[in-house]
Amino acid sequence: MRAIRVSQFGGPEVLKLEEVPTPTPGPGQVLVHVRAAGVNPYDTAMRAGTYAVKPPLPYTPGSDAAGVVESVGPGVTKVKPGDRVYTARTLSGAYAEYTLAQEDQVQPLPDNIEFAQGAGIWVPYATAYHAIYQVAQAHASETLLIHGASGGVGTAALQIARAMGLVIFGTAGTEPGLELIKREGANHVFNHTKAGYEEEILKATGGKGVDIILEMLANVNLPKDLKLLAINGRVIVIGNRGETTINPRELMMRRGSIRAFTLWSLTEQETKEIYAGLNAGLSTGILHPVVAEEIPLAEAARAHKEILEPGSVGKIVLIP
Ligand code: NAP
Repeated sequence: MRAIRVSQFGGPEVLKLEEVPTPTPGPGQVLVHVRAAGVNPYDTAMRAGTYAVKPPLPYTPGSDAAGVVESVGPGVTKVKPGDRVYTARTLSGAYAEYTLAQEDQVQPLPDNIEFAQGAGIWVPYATAYHAIYQVAQAHASETLLIHGASGGVGTAALQIARAMGLVIFGTAGTEPGLELIKREGANHVFNHTKAGYEEEILKATGGKGVDIILEMLANVNLPKDLKLLAINGRVIVIGNRGETTINPRELMMRRGSIRAFTLWSLTEQETKEIYAGLNAGLSTGILHPVVAEEIPLAEAARAHKEILEPGSVGKIVLIP
């Protein structure tokens, strides 16, 4: 089968399309014929060798795939060949024609969700769900600022928050991004490249501030976020690309808190709840991943460059 392989850490050019043996599922494993693979920002850091998790070389990147079950190993009971599925992590990497996963890493893909959309489920939607329900413990009618709402996690968060009855403030950096986030449910939209947009957000809350902030770029925004919080407000750090300095007094004055997580640390119970919540939302169409661009698998390097550029409008996916 064809797969993208990384044999040394480095720039996008280290992503090479190679011919490798198709894996055979062992006990409790499932082989998925991949129709689309999701590209996530962490894939680029892992490829560069700067991510907290360093895979042994060579490896195939990617955790999010959607496709059809090709074959199953002994003891697998939840899926059978021919089932449409999406993956929530894999054993052999998603940027390939086939990927091997453990049975509990494979979830049903409802008929109303296309394969390209299915490749945009796990990392973005699990992150948004975990942040809103399990970390922020949001309640209907609370105000939520999605600071970076036009990308994979942001659009997922918009759809989840809209279904929950939160009042949503969203930011994007371009006109197409602003249009997208309005369409996906933001009640108030702001351009994070425009000088003074923070004051506009505060004004739109009547000066009270927001209850919850989902932060996609903490090294740039965390100090400003603290000034946008309501009493008992909480900032949930999702994305970060460096260091920053905050004034803790801003938190003290607002009884505020900052919480942060990575998806790698989900507990078994949290994962079970996320699967159930996402699968219900996907099958009813409330959750519907937004695909920005489909790129051939051979051009994975281009996808890794584009995902780090400004102007997000949903997910970039690779088509084997
Ligand atoms: P993405 O699809 O590339 O989207 C990036 C988002 O950040 C876009 O909405 C972009 O808006 C926005 N952004 C750019 N500059 C910004 C600024 N100055 N202020 C606020 N937002 C800004 O990425 P993603 O998949 O949504 O992931 C977002 C971040 O979360 C990434 O850093 C990713 O690594 C991280 N993440 C963390 C976890 C975790 O477990 N903690 C899980 C998933 C993702 P424009 O393009 O419109 O400017």
